[in-house]
Amino acid sequence: MRVKDVAGSSGRTVVTVEPSETIADVVDLLKEHSIGAIVVSHDNKSILGIISERDVVRHLAREQEGTLRVKVEDLMTRNVLTCQLDDDLEATMRIMTDGRFRHIPIVDSNSELCGIVSLGDLVSARLQALEAQNTELTAKGRHNR
Ligand code: AMP
Repeated sequence: MRVKDVAGSSGRTVVTVEPSETIADVVDLLKEHSIGAIVVSHDNKSILGIISERDVVRHLAREQEGTLRVKVEDLMTRNVLTCQLDDDLEATMRIMTDGRFRHIPIVDSNSELCGIVSLGDLVSARLQALEAQNTELTAKGRHNR
């Protein structure tokens, strides 16, 4: 399976935020779209960073007062790992597991943002594929008896 097999079915549009916006804006967007991470971009194409609910919670644990006023650029992760639609699903899951993050933006051949998938999307697609395989093997086993 490839990333495109999952990106197609989840059909997720990419929510972005500008670096100069605040954590209050991020919290609103996370809630409004029921998502866990937002790509930071000026133009919805180039990726400047990523900010996830974990970044917000970590900052809250350090300093409750003022977290909502912090700028996205002061909290985002700048070194964003990305994948492409043709990338192998399991290799992508491995990168996410090793890096301990649950979201990975998808970029095209020009390195422009074209989607995002979560570890949950990937695990769910892999499980579905395994279940389909299992059903097929069981049916074959019955047929050969
Ligand atoms: P998450 O598990 O996605 O909530 O993210 C956990 C941490 O990894 C946070 O500090 C995020 O900013 C960061 N992060 C999320 N996605 C990525 C990614 N694709 N590349 C690098 N860091 C990421």
